[in-house]
Amino acid sequence: MRVVVDSNAGFCFGVVKAISKAEEELKQGKGLLCLGDIVHNNAEVSRLRTLGLEVIDHERYRTLSDTKVLIRAHGEPPQTYEQAKEHNISLVDATCPIVLALQKNVRNGYEEMRRVGGQVLIYGKHGHAEVIGLNGQTDNTAIIISGVEDLEAIDYRRPVRLYSQTTQSRDEYNALAEKIASRMISDDFKVYDTVCRRVANRAAELKDFAASVDLLLFVSGENSSNGQYLFEYCRKVQPNTRFVSDVSQIDDDWLKDISTVGITGATSTPRWLMEEVAGRIVES
Ligand code: SF4
Repeated sequence: MRVVVDSNAGFCFGVVKAISKAEEELKQGKGLLCLGDIVHNNAEVSRLRTLGLEVIDHERYRTLSDTKVLIRAHGEPPQTYEQAKEHNISLVDATCPIVLALQKNVRNGYEEMRRVGGQVLIYGKHGHAEVIGLNGQTDNTAIIISGVEDLEAIDYRRPVRLYSQTTQSRDEYNALAEKIASRMISDDFKVYDTVCRRVANRAAELKDFAASVDLLLFVSGENSSNGQYLFEYCRKVQPNTRFVSDVSQIDDDWLKDISTVGITGATSTPRWLMEEVAGRIVES
C-alpha cells in the first residue's frame, strides 16, 4: 500500500506567523497567555501548552492587568485593544495581515453605510472568532449571514456592503451574493471578494489530490471551520474520505483493499500530525 502526504497541506502563513510569534515569546521561559485557541487544532494547542502557552477565554481576559497576551491569527474586536490599554496588558498581536486588512475594509464599509443608512453583511459562522472581530468594526451592528434563513434580516430597500469571513467557500459566497442581488430593491449593493486566496486555492489543489487516491484521510480539528469545509469538498471528489483528528481515530477496516492512501488536512492542521497519521498507516 502506498501512503502519500499531500505536499500542499499544512498551516497557512497566517497560522505559521502566529505560532512562530508564540514560540519566540515562549523561549524566554516566562510562559504566555493566548486569547482563545491559537489554532483550531487540539494536538497543536497541546504541543504549545507543554512549552508554556496558556489558552484563556474572554471572561478571564477581562480580569487581567499588567501582563502579556497573544492575539491569534483570527483577530479581535476593538474592545479587546481598549481593555489592554486600560489594564496595562501588553499585546503580542499575531492577527493575520489578511484579516487585519479585512477588518479595515469592514470598518470603512460601516462608516460609509452609517452615512447613507445602509447595512453591513458578514457571511460567516455565528460566534466564530474572526466574525466577532469583524463585527466589532461595525460596533456589532452587522448582519451575520450563516445561511439563507438569515437573509430575512436584510432590508433590501437600503444600501448593502457584503463581506465574507476569510475561510468560507468562495462558491457558496458567490451563490449567496447572487441571491441577495436578486432581491435588492436599492441599486447600491457592493460585494467584496474577501475569501482568503490560500483557502480558495486549497480547494482546487485538493481536487486533484483527492481524485488520485483510493482512500483520503482528512486530518483536522473538529472545531476548524476551514477543516469542515475542505473535508466536505474532498468528500464530493473522493467519496472514500474519512475525517480524523488524530491517530487514535483510524479504523483498520478502512484500509482493506486499498492501494493508495492520501493524507491531507486543513490550513490549521500541523504537518507533524499528518506525518504521524502516515506513520500509523505504514505500521498497520
Ligand atoms: S486562512 Fe488566510 S486569512 Fe486565515 S489565517 Fe490563514 S492566511 Fe490568514
